Amino acid sequence: MLETTETTQSVRCPNCGSMAEREYIVSSQVVQTQCPACDYLMVLCSRTNKVIEAYAPGIPVR
Ligand SMILES: [Zn+2]
Repeated sequence: MLETTETTQSVRCPNCGSMAEREYIVSSQVVQTQCPACDYLMVLCSRTNKVIEAYAPGIPVR
C-alpha cells in the first residue's frame, strides 16, 4: 500500500519561541519545520536525522 499521508504538528520555534509547524512528508522522507513568525526553516531527513536545509533569520551565520 502506498502511504502518502502528510502529518502536521505544532511545535515551538527554536529560533523565536512562537508556534511553528512541523510537517512529516512521508513520500520524500523528510521532516520540515517552518515558523511563520520569523521565517525559520529546517528540513531534516527522517531516516538519518541529518539536516538537509536550515535557515534561521536573526541568528548570524559566522
Ligand atoms: Zn520563529
